[in-house]
Amino acid sequence: MSTGPEKSFDYLVPDELVGEILPGRRVYVPLGRSNRRVMAYCVAVERKEYGQRKLKYVMAALDQQTLVSSHMLSMTQWMADYYLASWGQVLEAVIPAAVRGNAGTREVTLLSVPSQVAMQLATLKLTEKQQKVLSTLAAATKPMTPGDLADKCRVTQAPITTLRKKKLITSEVRRVSHAHFDDIDIERESAKTLSEDQAAALKTILDQVNASQPKPILLHGVTGSGKTEVYIQAIQNVIDQGKQAIVLVPEISLTPQTKQRFASRFDRIAVLHSHMSDVERHWQWKRIASGIVNVVVGARSAVFAPTPHLGMIILDEEHDTSFKQDSVPRYHAREVAAKRAELEKVPLILGTATPSLETFYRAKKGLYELISMPRRIGNRPLPAVRTVDMRYDKTTGYRGAISRQLYQSIQRTLQQDGQIILLLNRRGHSTHIQCPACGHIVKCPHCELPLTHHITDGSTVCHYCDFRSVAPRVCPDVKCGYSGIRFSGIGTQKLEQEVKSKFSSYPIIRMDSDTMKKPGSHEAALEKFRNQEVRILVGTQMIAKGLDFPNVTLVGVINADTALHFPDVRAGERTFQLITQVAGRTGRGDLGGEVLVQTLSPDHPAIEAATRHDYALFAERELPFRRDFQMTPFAHMVRIIARGPTQPSVELFMQQVSEEVGRFAAEKGGDISLQGPAPAPIEKLRGNYRYHLLLHSFDRQLMRGAVLHCREKITVPEDVLWIADVDPIDMM
Ligand code: ADP
Ligand code: ZN
Repeated sequence: MSTGPEKSFDYLVPDELVGEILPGRRVYVPLGRSNRRVMAYCVAVERKEYGQRKLKYVMAALDQQTLVSSHMLSMTQWMADYYLASWGQVLEAVIPAAVRGNAGTREVTLLSVPSQVAMQLATLKLTEKQQKVLSTLAAATKPMTPGDLADKCRVTQAPITTLRKKKLITSEVRRVSHAHFDDIDIERESAKTLSEDQAAALKTILDQVNASQPKPILLHGVTGSGKTEVYIQAIQNVIDQGKQAIVLVPEISLTPQTKQRFASRFDRIAVLHSHMSDVERHWQWKRIASGIVNVVVGARSAVFAPTPHLGMIILDEEHDTSFKQDSVPRYHAREVAAKRAELEKVPLILGTATPSLETFYRAKKGLYELISMPRRIGNRPLPAVRTVDMRYDKTTGYRGAISRQLYQSIQRTLQQDGQIILLLNRRGHSTHIQCPACGHIVKCPHCELPLTHHITDGSTVCHYCDFRSVAPRVCPDVKCGYSGIRFSGIGTQKLEQEVKSKFSSYPIIRMDSDTMKKPGSHEAALEKFRNQEVRILVGTQMIAKGLDFPNVTLVGVINADTALHFPDVRAGERTFQLITQVAGRTGRGDLGGEVLVQTLSPDHPAIEAATRHDYALFAERELPFRRDFQMTPFAHMVRIIARGPTQPSVELFMQQVSEEVGRFAAEKGGDISLQGPAPAPIEKLRGNYRYHLLLHSFDRQLMRGAVLHCREKITVPEDVLWIADVDPIDMM
C-alpha cells in the first residue's frame, strides 16, 4: 500500500491506525531486511487476501490530513509510468516541500476563512466592520496576520477578535523565515462585449464545458485576437457552476499585468510562482484545497493545484518550452493537464498564436477541437514584416548590429513618438573571443564551449556553467601570446552600446537575465516602458511574449538565425514561433506597426512563413518533412543522455544502451529507429562528457519497455549517470 523506489508495496494496517491511514497520506514503514524506517505515501487501502505472504505492519501515520486526492493519485501514477520515473519521486515533486514539512524561525499567526463560511458570506448577520474584515480576508491574495488585516481594513483588532470567537475566522501559528508576502493591487474592470470571433470561440468552449467527456480545445488565435477575454468569460461560466479554474502561463508571463487582468475580474484568485516562500506556498495550497479560491493562475507546477471541484484548465502560450520540466519527473505541463482534464472530465483550453506541431496535429486528426481567431480585435491589421538580408551588409564590410534599413526605421519611429522593441536572443557583449593570429578560441575549461565577454565587469562567462574569468588581453595560448585578440559576435550588451551611441538622446533599457536578476526588476523595467519613460527596449526572448503596449510601432529582430541552425528537429519551428511572437508585440494600437527581421537566410521556409504571419503555410511545409523522417509529432521520441568525467566509459556505456535497445526491439518484433549514440551538442558540461541517443518510434510502449530493459540489464559504471527524457524538448 505504499510506494517504494520503483513500485508499490503492501503493508498491514495495525488496528489502532485504522481510519488514520488513508490514500494520499504519508506513513512510516519498515523497509528491507534491516527494517529501516522510511517515509512512504499510502496510495490505496483495501481488504484483500494476501495468502502466504508475510507482510509487515505500518509503523506510524504521519499526516492528519490528506495531501493528494484520488484523482491526483491516479494522475501521478500515470506520470510515473509515462515519464519513466518512480511514483514516489513524482509525488515528492507534485506536493510542495512546504506542504510536506514546515520551516522558518519567526512565529506568526495567520488567519483564514473556512470554506463553509466563505460560501455563505452574503447571508451572515454581521456589523459593517465585521463584514468588511471577513470579505477582505476571503479575497486576500497573500497570507494575513491579524495586524495586516486590521491595517488593510482600517479597523482595530476588536472586529477580528469577535469573528475569531464566532469561529468565522480560523487561525494557526506558523514558523516563517520572513514575513513579507506578495500582494496584488486590484482595479476592477468589467466584461468586454465580445467580437464575433470571440463569441464563436466562447460558444465552442461552453459546449465542451457541458459535455460529459469534454474534448481538449486548441484556441489558435493570432496575437492581439483577444484570447484572454475568451478565457475570462469561459472561467466566469465555470465559477457560476461553483467550480474552479486553473490558468497556466509561462513563468515569464506572470507579470503584474497578467495578474491584474485576472484579479480585476475575479474575486478570489491565487497566484503561484516559483520564487514564493515556503509559508506562502503552503498557505496558498491550503486555501486552494479549501475550495475558497475561484481561479488559480500559475506557472508549470500549478497544474497540480489541489482544487476540489475543478471545472476547467487553460494553458496559455501552449507552445512555450517552459512548460517542460528539466529535472525528474521530466513532465510537460501540457500533457499532464490533458491527463488531468481527462480524469476530472473537464475541458482543457490550449491557447496560442503559434501552436506546437504536436497540438496542431492532434487538432487536425480531430482529437482536439480547433477554434481559429484569425483576426485582431477591432480588425487591426497584423504588422507588415520585412526581412533585411544581412549578407549584403557583410560585403560592404559593415560590422554593426543595426542595418541601414533598421536604422532608418528606428529614426522615423522615434521622430513620430513611437516606441521600439529590439530582440536579440544572445546575452553578453561579444559572443566569442578568438585570436586572429593562431585561431585559438577562448573556451570554458569545464564545458569546452566558447566564453562570452561581459563588458560590465570585464569578465568572460560560460553561459552553461557560469564559469567566470577575467577577459584576456593577449592570446592565452602559451605558444602564441599575440596581443591583438579579437572580441566578436554580438550580444545584448554590445547591441545596447550601439543603440546608445546611435540614438543617444533617447532613453533605452535592456532586459535579459543579467539585468533582471533582482526580484521585481522585470516589473520595474516594464513599468518604465509602459509609461513611456523609456523609448527603446532591448532584450532577449524574455521580451518576445505577451507584452501589450499600444505605442510600440516598430519591432526589430537583430538576428533571426540564432536558433535556426541548432541540431534540433524543432529549429525551424522555434524560429517561426519567436519571429511571430515578437512581431505580435507591435501594431496593437491605432498607430499601426512595422517589423524588420535581419537574417542571413531570408529564403528559409520558417522565416518566410513568419514574415507572412502564415502558420498554415509553415505547418504545410514542415509536417510532410517530419512525416518522411518519422519524427515528432508523427513518431514519439525518447532522448537518452549519459554523462561522466571519463569519455571512454560514457561512450562505451551508450554503445551498450544502443545495442540493448536494438536487441529489445528485435525481440518484440517492433521498430525503434536510433540516432546516435553521439556526443551531445554540448559535448562537455561542468567537467562531464555528454553523449546522447535519440529513440524514435510509433510505439510508445515499446520505447518505454526498451528503457526499462536497459535499466535492468546494463550495469552502469560508477562514474556514469544517465537519464531518459520522454518527449524531449531540449536537444542540447
Ligand atoms: P491575445 O492574448 O490574443 O494576444 P489579448 O487578450 O492581449 O490578445 O487582447 C488584445 C487587446 O484587445 C487587449 O488590449 C484587450 O484588452 C483587448 N480586447 C480583447 N477583447 C476585446 C473586446 N471584445 N473588445 C475590445 N477590446 C478587447
Ligand atoms: Zn562552462
